Amino acid sequence: MSTFWADFLYAAANHPFPSMPVDLLSPFDHRNEFIFPNVPAAPGMPCAGEDRSIYRRGARRWRKLYRVNGHIFQAKRFNRRAFCAFCQDRIWGLGRQGFKCIQCKLLVHKKCHKLVQKPCSNEHVDPIEVKDDANGESTLGRASSVRSRAEVEPPLPETPPAPAAAPREELEPGAQRQYSLDDFELIRVIGRGSYAKVLMVELKRTKRVYAMKVIKKALVTDDEDIDWVQTEKHVFETASNHPFLVGLHSCFQTPSRLFFVIEFVRGGDLMFHMQRQRRLPEEHARFYAAEISLALHFLHERGVIYRDLKLDNVLLDHEGHIKLTDYGMCKEGVRPGDTTSTFCGTPNYIAPEILRGEEYGFSVDWWALGVLTYEMLAGRSPFDIAQAADNPDQNTEDYLFQVILEKTIRIPRSLSVKAASVLKGFLNKNPAERLGCGENGFLDIVNHPFFKSIEWEMLEQKQVVPPFKPRLEGERDLANFPPEFTDEPVHLTPDNDTVIADIDQSEFEGFEYVNPLLMSLEDCV
Ligand code: ADP
Ligand code: MG
Repeated sequence: MSTFWADFLYAAANHPFPSMPVDLLSPFDHRNEFIFPNVPAAPGMPCAGEDRSIYRRGARRWRKLYRVNGHIFQAKRFNRRAFCAFCQDRIWGLGRQGFKCIQCKLLVHKKCHKLVQKPCSNEHVDPIEVKDDANGESTLGRASSVRSRAEVEPPLPETPPAPAAAPREELEPGAQRQYSLDDFELIRVIGRGSYAKVLMVELKRTKRVYAMKVIKKALVTDDEDIDWVQTEKHVFETASNHPFLVGLHSCFQTPSRLFFVIEFVRGGDLMFHMQRQRRLPEEHARFYAAEISLALHFLHERGVIYRDLKLDNVLLDHEGHIKLTDYGMCKEGVRPGDTTSTFCGTPNYIAPEILRGEEYGFSVDWWALGVLTYEMLAGRSPFDIAQAADNPDQNTEDYLFQVILEKTIRIPRSLSVKAASVLKGFLNKNPAERLGCGENGFLDIVNHPFFKSIEWEMLEQKQVVPPFKPRLEGERDLANFPPEFTDEPVHLTPDNDTVIADIDQSEFEGFEYVNPLLMSLEDCV
């Protein structure tokens, strides 16, 4: 077995989320009666015993772990000065140059990890990690003496915890102030995903409504690395410049949580609409697929792989245009031809090249668009294994992965030739031959016969009237959000001191942010 698979299987067995057949059964599948034998009271209502929240969980990252001498290393980015326990040199550089053992916390260079001879004690050893001194310089002498100090002298004092939120800097005259939870009234819960709870909130000063994505820091630090929080923030910033991406208003934190204040998108997500409509006319699916393509292309041009395209991350605005949200799985800094290898995504949408453990690029997003377009047109997943629900061997994630890798995708005969062709194009298991991934890239999508009627420039300027307008009575109508969320109490549970004590606040320094563009708009009110 390759190291990749060994590490993947280990990590999958140990990942922090309960193992469950997520996304295996399409909620809008016309064969739902097989799973939930009742007939719902009204179209779109849940059947007795149906817990809809299961369909909404699923996106996650699998940790990449490297085992040497009993240590289980994972890549880490260090905010603080850190020194390699093997060669004693400082762990320098951008990105994740260091490895940390998840058991004994030993720190080493990536390049040194295979050479570590000291076996893992399985107990915590004090990492050779010191805080920058006052002038921001730590001398080489100090670096070279650190190891011996750790061995013969009492361990270094614990780094004092950073203040809960980074101290506010002195603001330039005219600069915007930071926000805090007190500035917002929490109105209602509107969604949940694998990592976050999303609320509808009002900015008290202007009475404007926003969505607030709340992430518990404990969940972030439990995860293999926290870079994704930084990435999510960067991509939200980038996204503020595109009509089909949810933009950012501000970011702030409390000792226990991170808050993203983002545009509130009133029409609900495509999962919600698919549950009610079961399948969409080709004209509708074409419109959504085309707008999503433009959003993906915009991200790709800016070096971002989205990696989590799925029905519940596609929102509809009040007119019926799409907006992608949730940048927690994105990969940034990808130039044309670059590849990456993290095993992540939502099982039902993961591209075969990721499952094969290959290096991959933007191709994975076009695969996911194929899965999503198939779901819109057919009303079920192309990897539907609902008929296997009774057989425990076939009702697992591994089985789903095998189906994605090996099964020939059957296109319903009711679809047009052009629709079948676009689906086959996106769902090509070979990324080199996949639609959108050839030499002409995005142009091949634009010129595909399925999209012939699309006027791309008009579309990008929101000049094409959407085929469906969400029913909305007023700005704050929550009719398009599932009652299982909107009926939840809106409060945030009070901070728990023991949980907070385990959080390394320095990981979140500098998270605060205010979008200057949105702020100046606000001032015009
Ligand atoms: P996670 O990272 O945990 O998956 P998401 O960002 O996807 O969290 O948010 C969870 C759900 O909340 C989404 O599926 C969507 O239904 C809802 N949601 C997220 N962002 C917004 C928004 N800006 N406006 C309205 N609803 C949203
Ligand atoms: Mg999500």
